[in-house]
Amino acid sequence: MSKWHEPSDNCLICRGQQEVVVGIRERGPYERMHDYTRVLFCAACDVGELRAFSYDDFVVFGEEDDVMVWSAILASEDVGRLRSGFACTSPLNHECQCVQHVRAYDTSLSATKTLLPEYGPARHSPDGRTTVTVELVDGLAEFR
Ligand SMILES: [Zn+2]
Ligand SMILES: [Zn+2]
Repeated sequence: MSKWHEPSDNCLICRGQQEVVVGIRERGPYERMHDYTRVLFCAACDVGELRAFSYDDFVVFGEEDDVMVWSAILASEDVGRLRSGFACTSPLNHECQCVQHVRAYDTSLSATKTLLPEYGPARHSPDGRTTVTVELVDGLAEFR
C-alpha cells in the first residue's frame, strides 16, 4: 500500500504556517503523483521561499526518493518585488499558462534550489539553502 503524501508549506525556520504568494505550477494531487512550485512567505520570520515539491510513487525503490522538496530563500524585498511585479491578475492560479506564469516556472527551474533532507533528524532543515532573487525583465518577474 502506498502512503498518501501530504505536503507541508510550513516555514522551515519557525515551522509556522506560510502565506502562498504565487502558485506557479501544480500537477495533482493524484494518488500516485503530485508536484508543485510555489512562492511562500513567513510573516513571523519576514522571509520568503521558492519551494518545489515532488511526490512520485513510480520511482524505482532505492534509486531515488519518492518525495523530494527543493527550497531556496527569497529575501523579503524580493517577495515584495514579486508581489508588485508579477504581471498576472491571478497569481494564485497555478493552472494559469500566461506568459508571466510560464516565465516564472521556466526561471524557477534554472534557479539554484537546495534539495532538503527528507528523512532523519535533519528533515527539512533550512541550513545551507541557496538564495534566489526576483528580477523584472521586459515587464515580467523572473527568478535568478
Ligand atoms: Zn517562519
Ligand atoms: Zn498567469
